[in-house]
Parts: sequence; structure tokens; C-alpha cells
Amino acid sequence: MKDCLFCKIAAGEIPADKIYEDEQVVVFRDINPKAEVHLLIIPREHLAGLNELESEHDALIAHIMRLIHPIAIDQGLESGYRTIINTGKDGGQEVFHLHIHLLGGRNLPGFG
Ligand code: 5GP
Ligand code: ZN
Repeated sequence: MKDCLFCKIAAGEIPADKIYEDEQVVVFRDINPKAEVHLLIIPREHLAGLNELESEHDALIAHIMRLIHPIAIDQGLESGYRTIINTGKDGGQEVFHLHIHLLGGRNLPGFG
């Protein structure tokens, strides 16, 4: 999608510290990390967020979900990690291309 930051990162038009990519997915480091490890996992296909998911995306979403564990292990997060998907303005979403935050490292703060 034109003028979408994460589409441009996926296409290689804007640089990012990519740690994994395949035909459907790109994983790169968040530019403003909130934890020792802070990755963003995105589909190459432009989907604004969770609210845009349709049944045609089921295989893509399954693929993304199953990637999380091997990526976490690759990043040394054997003892655990946190995944977050912000949705919509009131959900704290700032970039409207679906992404999963993968956060890890010692002392992740609790919620609340
Ligand atoms: P959201 O608030 O939409 O869930 O998260 C957007 C995330 O994208 C933020 O954590 C922010 O730091 C990250 N981000 C914004 N612009 C860039 C960028 O140009 N490159 C990278 N690698 N991350 C970005
Ligand atoms: Zn996009």
C-alpha cells in the first residue's frame, strides 16, 4: 500500500534491522525498543490491523503465530516473552499495518 511505513520496510524501500523474512512475513527490530529484545512481526500483505482479518487470511495468521516460538528461541528467549497487538487509536496503534510486538529479556514490567 502506498504511503504505508511497514509496506515500505517489507519491500526494502525503507531500511530496517530485519532478522527474518519469507514469502509472507517480515520480522525486524523496533526502532524504539521497549525491552532488551523488541521485534515487530508483520505480514507482507497490507492489512491495517486485526479488524481487517477475513477467513482468507487464516493460513497467513496461522503461519505468523507458529513463527513466534522459533523466532523467540533464536533471540535467546527460552524462558519467556510477551506478544502484543495494539488495535485502533484507543488501543495504542500508531502504525496501521498489522504487527505483533515480540518483547523479551529480563524484567518485563507487569500490566497495570
Ligand atoms: P504500535 O503503536 O502501532 O503498536 O507500534 C508501532 C511500533 O513501530 C512502535 O513500537 C514504533 O517504535 C515502531 N516504529 C515506528 N516507526 C518505525 C520505523 O521506521 N522502523 C522501525 N523499525 N520501527 C518503527
Ligand atoms: Zn502496509
